[in-house]
Amino acid sequence: MIAMANQNNILRDAIAEIARTARKDSIKKRKKRDLSRPASKWIVPTRLGNKIGTALSIVLSTVGCSHASSESGGCTMCSYLLDGTEEPPTSEQIVHQFQTAMHAVDDKESPISVKLYTSGSFLDSREVSDSARSEILQKISEDDRVEQVVIESRPEYVNDSLMSDIRCILGDRIVEIGIGLESISDSIRSICINKGFTLDDFTKALETCKEYNIGIRAYVLVKPPFLTERDALLDSVSTIVKAAELGVSTVSVNPVNVQSYTLVEKLWRARDYRPPWLWTVVEILKQAREAVDSQVTIVCDPVAAGKSRGTHNCGDCDTSFVKAIRSFSLEQNPIVFGSLSCDCKREWQHILSHEDVSLMHHI
Ligand SMILES: [Zn+2]
Repeated sequence: MIAMANQNNILRDAIAEIARTARKDSIKKRKKRDLSRPASKWIVPTRLGNKIGTALSIVLSTVGCSHASSESGGCTMCSYLLDGTEEPPTSEQIVHQFQTAMHAVDDKESPISVKLYTSGSFLDSREVSDSARSEILQKISEDDRVEQVVIESRPEYVNDSLMSDIRCILGDRIVEIGIGLESISDSIRSICINKGFTLDDFTKALETCKEYNIGIRAYVLVKPPFLTERDALLDSVSTIVKAAELGVSTVSVNPVNVQSYTLVEKLWRARDYRPPWLWTVVEILKQAREAVDSQVTIVCDPVAAGKSRGTHNCGDCDTSFVKAIRSFSLEQNPIVFGSLSCDCKREWQHILSHEDVSLMHHI
């Protein structure tokens, strides 16, 4: 791979422009919402230490991601801005959204891991005011069922004073900041994803978190646009291995799903993009689990799996793959993949060896 800085900048700007255009209409499509309604949420089993508990993911409605709504155009695969609201909710409304969502879990389902999402960054005070953030964390600290808290944020909002506040309020609970590292490669993150931060930004956030015994949950994106299936596989494995070496506590593996009003959707409609094979996802999990210290948890809960817009195989075997991936996330044991087999494996292998050379070979 030869680095040609000027051409990279031109390429990155062109891709950002397409991402911006694809997204333009989405803001108008945002629905008027009752800003006090309960936040959307979902519940799945999760491993907490040696126990199986419940992960409660809560998506608060805010004005949405600053990066996505900025002139940068936002990430090439993400349309979460659509979930945002036109009017910024008040602090009381955000706290109310949170409180009503917490009622979804009953005491039998503890211990609980609470995951706070906003379709952007929970730590961005433009989305969640300082007072709303403190009040939500305070309420969590008063709930003995909660053993783990995961807060999603871009790295630019991680700083000493916030991490110190979070640690202080949440006491000795396990805390992780979830950051979309996506790829360890600055070229792939910047050009293919238009992510808008560097590995250096990520590493600084990680070092700050370490000071407060706060872990990092790194999100790894499987198959950003412009990569072949094979490059995507290699990139995800090396990203997981290197993120573990940097000291992340958890890796969450996220195969691309095709979201509306994105550059990825444009490519997909033009038949220039296929979401990753489930075979690829399983291979990434197997190789990464083998290579990475067992202290680092590797999880995957693929969105739209088995559908044409999500990670999929031939259609016949998809359900068994998704089931195995879920078991792997709980048990951390790649043995759950042992029984997977299907005729479509040959097609996948053929694609791995013969797909056209991707953009990344040129930069
Ligand atoms: Zn199959």
